[in-house]
Amino acid sequence: MIIVMKPTATQENINNVVRKIENAGLRTHLSTGEEVTIVGVIGDKKLIANLEVNMLEGVDKSVRITEKYKLVSRDFHPADTIIDVDGIKIGGEELVVMAGPCAVESLDQLLEAATLVKKSGAKFLRGGAYKPRTSPYDFQGLEEKGLKILRQAADEVGLKVVTEIVDKDDIPRMEEYSDILQVGARNMQNFQMLKALGRSKKPILLKRGLSATISEWLNAAEYIMAGGNEQVIFCERGIRTYETFTRNTLDLSAVAAIKELSHLPIIVDPSHGTGRWQMVQPMARAAIAAGADGLIIEVHPHPEVALSDGNQSLKPKNFDRLMKDLEAIAKIMGRTL
Ligand code: PEP
Ligand code: MN
Repeated sequence: MIIVMKPTATQENINNVVRKIENAGLRTHLSTGEEVTIVGVIGDKKLIANLEVNMLEGVDKSVRITEKYKLVSRDFHPADTIIDVDGIKIGGEELVVMAGPCAVESLDQLLEAATLVKKSGAKFLRGGAYKPRTSPYDFQGLEEKGLKILRQAADEVGLKVVTEIVDKDDIPRMEEYSDILQVGARNMQNFQMLKALGRSKKPILLKRGLSATISEWLNAAEYIMAGGNEQVIFCERGIRTYETFTRNTLDLSAVAAIKELSHLPIIVDPSHGTGRWQMVQPMARAAIAAGADGLIIEVHPHPEVALSDGNQSLKPKNFDRLMKDLEAIAKIMGRTL
């Protein structure tokens, strides 16, 4: 349930409402907007059903929320959430692009990639040190050595780091080397890991599961937020359909859906979303036109020798071209890049 306070409600009115809710054994979540304050109520359904607050001074109305997710919901928090990573704002006016190879392969490879993507305007360096590969015989990543390379390359050129976490026991190590922790599609419903990430101080990039509905995805974000970490960024990366020409079907309608249902930022991954480098540029352009807050794109200095996902990796010159196109689209969308 949410309780919408009147624009004229005083702080004392709000405190009274909060007290009444908490005395009933429920928790509250306050969203203070420019005009009105919204008090979100979280807890046992039966207790909420018995809660009577409409008569309290300063209350405009109470609205029952039927969805299970609450903290991620725009009803609870009408204004867009902006996530600040050392001054880089995700979800604000400026679009944020994260780029780099699928996997960290060597320091030379990462430094070359980092230098080029930075020059084109990327703000984050991506690269997997722990790779969740479909086959156990494929390259599994350089693990901690990869994390060190990623950090070093990013620091040398002045980028932030986003990298995938695959095991909740790795959280302290991952926090040491990265600025955003990425939950991959295969772990979107790894609930133990989501709960543990709820206790992390780092923002979480939550990729959509291979076959996850929007509602399952929102609930996965709710797990992280319910644990106390309110810094969640969604990432649409394609879902499994009957189509085989593309690796996945990039669901750009998810951008509009998430914007409607949640206040959290959403970015798009056109690389995994299509699996074909030829389609990355058009889908990236479309994602920004659809309202995404940014992109995460695989860029490899030499895709033909990449140890993973070479087929969907852009060459740096194509990435540079794309960034110029995005600048123009951003302007139409009232945003900057
Ligand atoms: C990745 O970003 O490297 C990755 C493995 O993506 P996903 O989890 O979306 O497959
Ligand atoms: Mn990849």
